[in-house]
Parts: sequence; structure tokens; C-alpha cells
Amino acid sequence: MAVLDHITSQEAIELENKYGAHNYHPLPVVLSRGEGVYVWDVEGKRYYDFLSAYSAVNQGHCHPKIVGAMVNQAQTLTLTSRAFYNDMLGKYEKFATEYFGFDKLLPMNTGAEAVETALKLCRKWAYEVKGIDENEAQIIVCENNFHGRTTTIISFSNDPVARKNFGPFTKGFIKIEYDNLKALEEALENNKNVAGFLVEPIQGEAGVYVPSEGYLKAAKALCEKHGVLFIADEVQTGIARTGQLLAVNHEDVNPDILILGKALSGGAYPVSAVLANDAIMNVIKPGNHGSTFGGNPVAAAVAIAALEVVQEESLAENAERLGQIFRTELSEFAKDNDFVTLVRGKGLLNAIVINDTEDSSTAWDICMKLRDNGLLAKPTHGNIIRFAPPLVMNEEQLRDCIRIITETISEFKR
Ligand SMILES: *Cc1c(COP(=O)(O)O)cnc(C)c1O
Repeated sequence: MAVLDHITSQEAIELENKYGAHNYHPLPVVLSRGEGVYVWDVEGKRYYDFLSAYSAVNQGHCHPKIVGAMVNQAQTLTLTSRAFYNDMLGKYEKFATEYFGFDKLLPMNTGAEAVETALKLCRKWAYEVKGIDENEAQIIVCENNFHGRTTTIISFSNDPVARKNFGPFTKGFIKIEYDNLKALEEALENNKNVAGFLVEPIQGEAGVYVPSEGYLKAAKALCEKHGVLFIADEVQTGIARTGQLLAVNHEDVNPDILILGKALSGGAYPVSAVLANDAIMNVIKPGNHGSTFGGNPVAAAVAIAALEVVQEESLAENAERLGQIFRTELSEFAKDNDFVTLVRGKGLLNAIVINDTEDSSTAWDICMKLRDNGLLAKPTHGNIIRFAPPLVMNEEQLRDCIRIITETISEFKR
């Protein structure tokens, strides 16, 4: 068999099982093509994608404008490293900083790298601007956070599966309850060594936990009062997913440091970024930090196109409108369904909670049936199913999806 010969789903799954590390447990479906809100498996069956690669594909699969920009740039210049200037990075930095309202951008590739960058930036600022004694800086994080997979980031995770036997861990983090202002206030008070507060505006991986209204605004005010940087991890919630360009926009909060990834490229290419104003970003000097691929011309071209699509196609407005319909319809359905206890979310980042224990297989079984019925979603934390389609969906498609979801769940009986 030649390496690139056509294979069946079963063959593809067997190859991954035999030759790939088992660090994921995928739903058994093998995808080979995508367009807009749809993906197709190798047998040609079409599905609605309700995961969007964890919100990386907000602009839809293989968006022609984004792919066009990528192909065009890939045929011109792909990588120079930052040892030299390239003619795309500056254009992208100007465009993206104006787009999000910050002085400067630091380009990286993956979300985890951008989080690492933000943590380093925050610490350096703490020593050089705030005046914390060297090696004493602390950063407040939230319980049940998800910020990525590096050794430092898992140091402040409380997911035992993500942490077990990966120690020793990085010090300098204080963990508090999410959506708890009192806990934040207590952590800030009488501690001159706090440098930053790192928070997801909605906890996506934890199961789409939306904090109480006003939490982010009040948290930002507390940070300001104590001279602490408010660091928003919008890798999953940003770029129109929740019905605003950024989830912090729902509460008119301007983070001191903004972390972006995933949909910054529309899923075409790994592109992430940290944004901040000069008073913070200028602590970074040549040699302090870097990445061979960060800020490469392809990434720059792709990100510009991906951000233009968000504006040109009014994706935030669409996410807001369709999200309302989705939650209204699903909440109505949940009223007389035994399995669905709760529907929550913002924009098109939503989840349903299945009335079952975390270790039951009901949510997985529902996702398998959804697959059979032409819709792909994945359970998170056992009994929660996240629903996050591409934001280019139209109302007719959404209503078709609501029908598939409600009919599928109705097939389940106690
Ligand atoms: C996905 C995600 C990350 C990590 O991004 P990677 O590209 O997988 O490294 C970080 N923070 C949040 C909130 C995420 O959802």
C-alpha cells in the first residue's frame, strides 16, 4: 500500500492506534474533508461539526479567503525566523493591535505558548515595573481552569489526569474558586507579591461555565485597585465565539494582557498572540523570549484574513442571534426531557448537562448516536456535551441541528 492510498475509517483508526501515542480518545469517525459548517468522513457521509476544533474553526472549514491567503503566502515566503524582518509581520501587528485595541502584539503559535508568554510577561513586569522582589511574584488562577499542556501550565491545573506523574511542578501560583469575588479579594489583600490574575471569561474545557454577570468587571476593578494585571485567556472564547469579538466585551472589560489562539487563524494554521500596551510589553527586550515560527509570514497572512472574515461576515452578531435561538429551543426541550437538566452558554459556545453521574456513559452514547444522525459533538467531563458549531452557520442549518439533537436525545429512555 502506498502511503497516501485511500483508506477506510477502520483502517485509519487502526493506524492511529498502532503507530500514534494514545494521548486522545477520539469519537470513532474519520474525517477527510471540510467546508463551512460541514465535514465529511472517508466514506463520504456528511456531518455538522459541533466542536469546530475546540472553537478554532469559527470562520468555518476551509474558508476560501483564509485558505487563499495561506496558499498565496506559502508560494511566496513561508519562514525567515525573527533573525530577519519579513514584510508581513509588521502589517499584521498593526492590523491586529488596531483591531483589538492594544499598543503591541507578541506572536506565537499555539495557545499554550501564548499563555506561557503571558505568564513570563506578567512576571517580568512585576519585577521591573511593580517592584516585587526577584522570584517572589505570584499569579492568581482559578480552579478547574484550562490553559494548555506545558509543564508550567499543568502546575496550576487541578485535573488529576492532566497532572499525575508529570511533576515536579512550577511554583508561584495561587488557586482560587472561579466566579468568586470574595476569594479573589482575599487573595489580593495583604499580599504585595501578586503580579497577575489569569482567567478564562467562560471556562470552556471545564464544561462551559459562565460566571455570574458582573464578575469579570468587578474582578478587573479589584485587580486595578491592587496594581495587579488582569490576564484574559480568550483562546477559546475570543474571536466572536460568544457573540462579541471578545467575551470580556460583554462586560466592557479591557484586559491588561489578552491571550488569543485557535480562531485567530480560522483553524488553517497554528497562530497565537499576546497583546498588551507599551507600559507592559516594553519590559520584553531582545533575547528575552522567542519562537522560530512565531510571527512567520504565513501566520501573519492567515491571521489578517481570518480576522477580516470575522468582520466582513458579522460572525459575532450571528453567534449572538443563533445562540439565543439554540438556548431557547434546547431549554424548552429540556423541560420535559429526563436526560437534559441544564442548558448554558453564551453566543455559540453552549453545553448541555446530562442528568447522570460524571462516570456514566450516557453523554458518550448520545454523542455516538448524534454521529450516526449526522452531527459531531464530544462529551467533556463525563456528563457535559459542548455544542460549538462554526459561526458561519445560518438559521435554517441551526434549526436542522436542533432537530437532530432533540430527536436523538429523545431516543434515549431510562
Ligand atoms: C485550547 C486552549 C488553550 C491551549 O491552546 P493550544 O493551542 O491547544 O495549546 C489555552 N487556553 C484555553 C482557554 C483553551 O481553550
